[in-house]
Amino acid sequence: MSLLHLEALTKRFSPHDLPALDDFSLTAEHGEIIALLGPSGSGKTTALRLIAGFERPDAGVVAIGGKIMADKNTFLPPEARGVGMVFQEYALFPHLTVEANIAFGLRKLDPRTRGQRDEGMLETVGLTPFAGRYPHELSGGQQQRVALARALGPRPSVLLLDEPFSNLDADLMAQMHQELYTILRELGTTALLVTHDQEEAFMIADRVGILNQGRLEQLGRPEEIYHRPATRFVARFVGKADFLPGRVTEEGIETEIGLLPNTPGFPRGTLVEVMIRPDHIELIPDPMGNAMILSRQYRGPDIFVVVRLPSGATIHSHQPSTLTLHPGDRAKVLARPTHVVAFLATKPWL
Ligand code: ADP
Ligand code: MG
Repeated sequence: MSLLHLEALTKRFSPHDLPALDDFSLTAEHGEIIALLGPSGSGKTTALRLIAGFERPDAGVVAIGGKIMADKNTFLPPEARGVGMVFQEYALFPHLTVEANIAFGLRKLDPRTRGQRDEGMLETVGLTPFAGRYPHELSGGQQQRVALARALGPRPSVLLLDEPFSNLDADLMAQMHQELYTILRELGTTALLVTHDQEEAFMIADRVGILNQGRLEQLGRPEEIYHRPATRFVARFVGKADFLPGRVTEEGIETEIGLLPNTPGFPRGTLVEVMIRPDHIELIPDPMGNAMILSRQYRGPDIFVVVRLPSGATIHSHQPSTLTLHPGDRAKVLARPTHVVAFLATKPWL
């Protein structure tokens, strides 16, 4: 049986509003890292609070390690669930040293194990030299390492992290991602990481779940989410996506940028919208080409180009920084998708 088992969880805070979490199911295996990714208000924190036992579900089941924590008849309090939590705000005890903050997480263990675990956790998060300092004497990143050590000390069966690094600057955030990943893997911790940052989710997680208005729209490996988004929302939320009208024929999907393979297998005659990722668009300089460069944004290793097609539609393209095309230049557009993603057209456009 999977370590974490969530089945059809629903939570509504007010009868007039949409549910904060709606029919949410997910299972995590031992040692798996899952990220929940979604915009603000999509239900990410609510999902974590239901798992931790800070909220009671209106319907559904929370089971951890094969044991029911919450369902119609059962509701175990947070302290009986063996779950660790790290929040966005550091939530350390200001009057306790680093060592004492970490030891607080271990207060229920026997004294000998406690001492060993305490030193071990300090070392794991690289804070041994700071053991005697107080939280206000630490940087944001160091404080978040203490919070992580405190949560992991008792070896929780599941670690829940709610946007733990969103208060840190970009460099420190990247470093903390790497550290968190290494620590979770080293300890074999099962973790659920909530974030609104796609890079964070993709970098750390084995699987990513995309939440939209309380509903899980897709759960899959990062590559699946990026290359085979199940819905338009997922396509747009994860990376840059443009959509072009297409018509399915015997030969494939006819679009303004050429014939694409009908890998989704739509019946002939279907009107669709094809998802185009910037990394699938090649630009060939050609004065007779029917596309025009509108703008280019130099980003160091690559250039982000906006191109106008004959219909007036615009698409984006990633190009190497050696690109010679400039705004006003003409080009031929070639699409090279690894896998064609298309959705049924929502409005008749032909
Ligand atoms: P996220 O963490 O993805 O930003 P939340 O889970 O915090 O989203 O919130 C999901 C929805 O539930 C939002 O519309 C929010 O306003 C609502 N909500 C969350 N907690 C409460 C609460 N305690 N009382 C009323 N509404 C709430
Ligand atoms: Mg939240």
